[in-house]
Order: sequence, then structure tokens, then C-alpha cells
Amino acid sequence: MLNGKTALVTGSTSGIGLGIAKALARQGANIVLNGFGEVEAARAEVAALGVKVLYHGADMSKPAEIEDMMQAAASAFGRVDVLVNNAGIQHVANVEDFPVDRWDAIIAINLSSAFHTTRLALPAMKAANWGRIINIASVHGLVASAQKSAYVAAKHGIVGLTKVTALETATTGVTCNAICPGWVLTPLVQKQVDAKAAALGLSNEEATKLLLGEKEPSMQFTTPEELGELAVFFCSPAANNVRGAAWNMDGGWVAQ
Ligand code: NAD
Repeated sequence: MLNGKTALVTGSTSGIGLGIAKALARQGANIVLNGFGEVEAARAEVAALGVKVLYHGADMSKPAEIEDMMQAAASAFGRVDVLVNNAGIQHVANVEDFPVDRWDAIIAINLSSAFHTTRLALPAMKAANWGRIINIASVHGLVASAQKSAYVAAKHGIVGLTKVTALETATTGVTCNAICPGWVLTPLVQKQVDAKAAALGLSNEEATKLLLGEKEPSMQFTTPEELGELAVFFCSPAANNVRGAAWNMDGGWVAQ
């Protein structure tokens, strides 16, 4: 379905981003990977699906590096047809104790980076009259949890950015939607399980059950593969008129 198209997924060396990159690659899209850590492993997993892979190590908190990445993607593949804004970090603390540098980093990486990639990708998408922008928000784009002020502010912000982008492209072949996962067992969440286990003297299994039980009625994690298939749906012709949605995949979290 995406043969000959190019998908750029920020923060795709791990977790949800890597899952989405692989799902889009299975549909034939060439992939631009971004993120830190296990770069070569991620590149090999995606390349094994038979598509071209470009890696760019832009730090999503730095607009000049984001511009360089978008230019590199355009020179390698012509343009970015599918943009997935996924890179994100977390920090947990009460508002009055929240480190100022963590606030700034979360707003920059989880929110402002999506503004930069979107403004840079839109002209070529509009010229081609086809494009898909998929913002990985969170249930925290729809509801709040204590101690996550920066994250919740950034995720509500990206849901707002999604709606504005959808309105500004509403009469074109470009769509913009957000995906709002509940708990997904990635390194970002494992750190929160570890913190709970350490604070309460629990085993990993007990802390995991507690974490799920507090918020997610299904008591199940959503998987990167399931989120990848939702991204594929947003890229399909059936989703041509899905615009500005904030689609939760959360085991019932926000239904409560
Ligand atoms: P993860 O930690 O597994 O992956 C995060 C990715 O972002 C990695 O590739 C990392 O290298 C990259 N990254 C971090 N800082 C970066 C920076 N400054 N520049 C470029 N890349 C950077 O996390 P994840 O759980 O897969 O999270 C991915 C997205 O999904 C995030 O936006 C997160 O908020 C969102 N999300 C996660 C969950 C969950 O339960 N895991 C739930 C809802 C939403």
C-alpha cells in the first residue's frame, strides 16, 4: 500500500516508534529512522523487511538538527509522505518539585519537535496533494495523572496541534491525526514500573500489576505492533476523511 512512499518516524530506535516504522515498512514504505541508543539493531530490523532505510540522529530538542534531518530525508527520497511524530520522554514529580530543565526538555521533545517537523514536511505534502501526519500523543493528551505536569501539558498540546493541522489541510489529500496509547511496555514505562517496585518493595510482576490496575481496566498492555496497525490504517484510503481525530488505544483507560 505504501510502495514508493517514504515514512519518517521520530524516536524510532526503540519501543512504539520502532513498532510503527516496521509496520509501515511492511507496507512497502522506505523509512527514515531517528533516535538514540540501539541504532544499528533498529536499522537491521527495518532493513530486513526489504525497504530502504536512512538513519538521522537529530536531537528532537534542537530545531536546527530537525531541519537538517528533514533536508536529509528529502534529498535521499524526494519527500516525506508519512510523518510520525513519536519521540518522547517522561519525568515524574510534583509541580513544585519539577526540575525546570526537565519541563523544558519534555515540552521541546514531546511537543515543539512535532511543530518543527510538521511545518517542514507540509509544503511538499501539499504540493503532492497526499500526506499523512500521525502524532503519537497519549491518553495523557485526553486526561491527566498527578506528577506528570510537563508530559500532560505537552500531550494535550500535541492533540491541539493535530486538530489545527487537520483543519488547515482539510480540503487537501493531507490528513493529520493523533494516536493516544494507554500503557505500552517500553523502556519509558519499564522505568516507571522499576520506580514503583523500588519505592514499595515489590517484585517486577507485582509492580506491573499495580501500574496496570490503577489506570487500565483491560489489565493488558497495548503493543507497538497494534499501534503500528492503527498507523497503517491512518495511511490507508479508508482513512482519507479521518481528520483531527485523537484515537485512544488504551484498554478502556479514558472510558472510565
Ligand atoms: P521509548 O523510550 O521506548 O522510545 C523513545 C524514543 O524516542 C527512542 O527511540 C529514543 O531514542 C527517542 N528519543 C528520546 N529523546 C530523543 C531526542 N531528544 N531526540 C530524538 N529522539 C529521542 O518510549 P516509547 O514508550 O516507545 O514512547 C514513544 C512515544 O509514545 C512517546 O511520545 C511517548 O510519550 C508515547 N507514549 C508512550 C506510552 C507508553 O506506555 N510507553 C503511552 C502513551 C504514549
